[in-house]
Formats: sequence, C-alpha cells, structure tokens
Amino acid sequence: MRLILLGAPGAGKGTVAKMLTALDGSVQISTGDILRAAVKDGTELGKEAQGYMTRGELVPDSLIMGIMGERLLEDDCQGGFLLDGFPRTIPQAEELKALLAKLSIDLDFAVNLDVPRDVILDRLTTRRTCSNSDCAEIYNVKSKPPSVEGICDICGSPVIQRDDETEEAISKRLDTFNEQTAPLVDFYTGEDMLLNVNATSSDVVVDAIKEKLGS
Ligand code: AMP
Repeated sequence: MRLILLGAPGAGKGTVAKMLTALDGSVQISTGDILRAAVKDGTELGKEAQGYMTRGELVPDSLIMGIMGERLLEDDCQGGFLLDGFPRTIPQAEELKALLAKLSIDLDFAVNLDVPRDVILDRLTTRRTCSNSDCAEIYNVKSKPPSVEGICDICGSPVIQRDDETEEAISKRLDTFNEQTAPLVDFYTGEDMLLNVNATSSDVVVDAIKEKLGS
C-alpha cells in the first residue's frame, strides 16, 4: 500500500504505520524519525534541523523535500510505503504530487487521523519513545508501559521522553499543526483522496484502512 498518514502530533500515525507495515511489508517513512536520527548522529542535516524541532516548529520545506526525494528512490519503497509526518505543509504536498507523478507512483489515499485536542495532550505528555532511532517503538506510561521500566521491550535501548514533548513544545507543535498542516485535509479532499477516521484507537484506523483498500 502507498498511504499518507495525516494527523496532529500524538494522533497515532506512528503506531498505525507500524501496524500496517506488518500487514504487507510496506515501509514506514517517518520524517520525524529521520530527523531525530540525523540530530543524534550530528550530521549537517541534524544540525540544521535541531533548533526548529526543539522549538516545536517545522523544519524548512527545502530540507524535507531533499530528504524525501532521496528516500522515495530507495529499493525498499518499491513494495509500498506509509508516509508518517510528511507532507506537513501545502508546498510539501504540492511537491510530493509532482515528485510522485515524475516517478509514475500512484498513492492509494491519505488518511486523516482525527483525535480531539484533550486526548492528544494527554497522549503526548504520557508518551515515551525508544531512543534507538532504528526502532523508535512508542510506549505510554499509562496505557502501554515497557515491561521493564525505561527499557525498550523490542531492542533493549533506553525509553525516553522526547525533547519536544515538554508542555511548552507540545503546545507550540499543536499550534503549528493547526496553522500549517490541518489545511492538508482540504487539499486531499480536493484531490478526492481523503479517508477521514475518528481515530479513537489504532485498531479502528487500521480496520478503516483495510476496508477502503478492499482487503
Ligand atoms: P514528528 O516526530 O513527526 O512529530 O516530528 C518531529 C519534528 O520534526 C516536528 O515537530 C518538526 O520539527 C520536524 N518535522 C518532521 N516532519 C516534518 C515535515 N514533514 N516538515 C517539517 N518539519 C518536520
């Protein structure tokens, strides 16, 4: 499958993407994970992106399009991909459309994970993430704690609270989402490509996607 996962930070895009990869081998492409790995490795990209990320702002479109232009050409994308956290602005969506047309790749559709703001706030403040960017398993101190506190069940790396999951950064990220990313719902509605799901649970989202794909 080739899907775009839209939704506020904390809507469950990463969790749903991981569940979908297990279905047909499509790869999850998370621009957030790619950027966090670059910050950790101290690459030029990481140095450029870090300030924006810590402040809860978006990284410039040109950096993101550079990453995605290369990532979509990698072999593992041939079996399908789930775009998690990209596109996040109208210019990114326009450039993605042009890029996919150039590569003769058709998307199935874009899924909007619709979650009320109070649920998002609660999820983000209680969310914890595996610090190993190749794993990036997501936990929640209330609903899905790791079996051993602070240690990832999958890879054994420390499980941490992200730098941009302080209350101040979360509030800024949600404002950024409302201003710059929410308009993508109208964009993909206009393209006749939108599946809107009341994303109370990840299972509900995955079932709605499977139904629309006819599988
Ligand atoms: P995420 O893990 O998807 O919430 O992304 C974490 C941070 O990475 C965001 O708050 C942005 O600073 C940056 N980021 C991730 N994806 C994008 C994107 N498509 N466009 C701009 N910035 C992004």
